[in-house]
Amino acid sequence: MRASVRPDLPVEPAKGGVEDARVLEERVLVGLPAAGGVVIGPAYVYEREEVYVTERALSLEEVDAELQLLGEALERANRELTKIIEFAQAKLDSDASAIFEMQIMLLNDVELGKALERRIREERKNADFLIHQEFERYKAMLLRTNNPLFSERTADLDDVAQRLLRALQKKRLHANIEGKHVVIADVLTPADTVLFLRNDVLGYATNLGGITSHAAILARSLKVPAVVGAHDATETIRTGDTVILDGQLGRIILHPSPETIAEYRGKIDRIHEIETRLEKLVGLPCVTPDGHKVELSANAEFVNEVEYVLAQGSKGIGLYRTEHLSILEGEFPSEQEQYVAYSSIAQSMYPQSVIIRTFDLGGDKFMVQARKEDNPSLGWRGIRVMLDKPEEFRAQLRAILRASVTGNIKIMFPMISGLAELREARAHFDAAKAELQAQGCPFDDAMEVGIMIEVPSAVLLADVFARAVDFFSIGTNDLVQYLLAVDRNNDLITNLYQEFHPSVIRAIKHVIDTAHAHGKWVGLCGEMGGNPLGTILLLGLGLDEFSMVPSMIPTIKGIIRETRYEDAKNFAEEVLRCHTTAETKRLLASAFRERFPHLASMYILNGAMNT
Ligand code: PEP
Ligand code: MG
Repeated sequence: MRASVRPDLPVEPAKGGVEDARVLEERVLVGLPAAGGVVIGPAYVYEREEVYVTERALSLEEVDAELQLLGEALERANRELTKIIEFAQAKLDSDASAIFEMQIMLLNDVELGKALERRIREERKNADFLIHQEFERYKAMLLRTNNPLFSERTADLDDVAQRLLRALQKKRLHANIEGKHVVIADVLTPADTVLFLRNDVLGYATNLGGITSHAAILARSLKVPAVVGAHDATETIRTGDTVILDGQLGRIILHPSPETIAEYRGKIDRIHEIETRLEKLVGLPCVTPDGHKVELSANAEFVNEVEYVLAQGSKGIGLYRTEHLSILEGEFPSEQEQYVAYSSIAQSMYPQSVIIRTFDLGGDKFMVQARKEDNPSLGWRGIRVMLDKPEEFRAQLRAILRASVTGNIKIMFPMISGLAELREARAHFDAAKAELQAQGCPFDDAMEVGIMIEVPSAVLLADVFARAVDFFSIGTNDLVQYLLAVDRNNDLITNLYQEFHPSVIRAIKHVIDTAHAHGKWVGLCGEMGGNPLGTILLLGLGLDEFSMVPSMIPTIKGIIRETRYEDAKNFAEEVLRCHTTAETKRLLASAFRERFPHLASMYILNGAMNT
């Protein structure tokens, strides 16, 4: 998304003019909502002291001294990270420090240490240059994936590399600001996010990053409002400028007018009121006033999210993406590594259920083997990859089965487009069971098996699949892309990527009706599940489980608990009669405004839906 100027407002004069003559016009910068909440305050534009690296040849005599410097830098970086972990543990009161533990592991990676030592000796180059090269090589591998989830993790690598280089060049870590500020940065590392908390940070906004970055996850768990991906925020905003950070809508309002400030103060009060009201709902069931019950669960990837997920009143994890397990090694994780990850999430969530999705590699996601494809989204991805890699697939299935002894794991296959694929996947699943049985290894034999419905052919074959599985989970992120032939990651056509396109709504209805006719339940784990504008519609279509970004659970529960199922069904009928996306969105927005006026200003922007 690009930062943009609200069309009804004049553009701020270019920087660099005469300061006093600068007219402080209100501007809206558009980003992504990474952590909820709204704050108003002065900006602090954070520029990290970058370290520069130049290549230098060493004489034979200098080699030992360079190795000594490297050893000292590693020690210092370790000490710093240990301190951050201690601070994170005290401050976060959760497992969030795991991010830094992973960074320490990265820092102390034996292969990295060996490679650096060997290269200093053999190539006789300075340590900073080689550190830079080694980390860049690793990063390039992750960036090649083109998947936001994995490319965001490169921020962790940068963080470790910068820390090590800073330690080597004896530069100070600089993350100290005075007074309450909204921190504006190009990108924030998880360490910055935590360390800024020593000061009175009101919120965070970054040019880069997505809502799945570690810094965003931390901001959510720290309950600090955050907007990410606001492209030119650091160029547009100056330290001291007044800003409003709207973490609900993903907006930064620069130089807000007195009217806008008053409007937002009202919004902050309303958020507090709503939060207080929603907090009371955490322990209550998600049931409509006329007694229709649905499940709300979370999309999560890391065990350190569990505490937050449960605190939101989640009934389980509706989508546990497993792809992240393969990023660090650039290859498939071992069965044992996977077993540890799956057991730990299942045990932490127990007795709530966890739906583990088998590797959905390829497409826009991480690919274990770099292979250039003209149309990766239509190429070797999801279940297709795993069926071509039976050994790796079996290892994953065995790991999931072994972890299932807790009895709260369900399994789900992504990108299924035909029955043959499902049969083959199930055959591997049965074979994995037989292998474990032969070894006397226990597992949950009654584990539910489901598929993602995210390819149009699976929608049309819903009746066939409903006979063959226990549940469906609709993946609207991909279903919209494939149904409308609109790449979900292409900036040029974001306006055509319409989750409320009438065909998408009809497809969802067809899947739910068909599954129900066969006595099967249906969840939805695309981003649409956490969009309040779609809640009444999805409820009315009969969706059984909504899985979403955890922070949206209380809001969605609040909506469902105040909507009669009978009314939602009638509303869904009305929506199904719409012929265009615009018509549909108007109807959804007006119903939402009418029923939930207190939420409307938070989720409906300038009278139009921001989806
Ligand atoms: C989806 O496609 O809606 C989905 C949840 O899966 P992913 O975003 O991981 O492709
Ligand atoms: Mg998908």
